[in-house]
Amino acid sequence: MTGLVDSHCHLDARRFETDRETVIVRAVESGVTHIVNPGVDLPSSRSAVKLAQQHECIYAAVGFHPHEAKALDASALEELRRLAASPKVVAIGEIGLDYYRDLSPRDVQRRALKRSSSWRPSWACRSLSTTVTLTRTC
Ligand SMILES: [Zn+2]
Repeated sequence: MTGLVDSHCHLDARRFETDRETVIVRAVESGVTHIVNPGVDLPSSRSAVKLAQQHECIYAAVGFHPHEAKALDASALEELRRLAASPKVVAIGEIGLDYYRDLSPRDVQRRALKRSSSWRPSWACRSLSTTVTLTRTC
């Protein structure tokens, strides 16, 4: 594989609503061949998968940031599992603990991390495509 990999880029964020395609093209023209866009909650995980399906160079991660840990219930976890089945999902994330800002209670964060870590996607190891075709849209 040659080229650059951006392993953590929130291209689905609202701040890119007006120039998302321009940003993607600029990244590709600068040598970025693969971009991993992680979700931070259910809506952004859905958006990450959708964006990945629209652009060959973009891949998704699905998960709940520790700040959003309180929203990770059984229903949300089931949808994450469904989203993770997409061939463009290459990681589970964002997940983890954030004791710096403490925007979610620590016990809630630990419970969410345990839930997020208690299952494995059907793909044990999925690699990024090595045959990305660079075009104006990716
Ligand atoms: Zn992030």
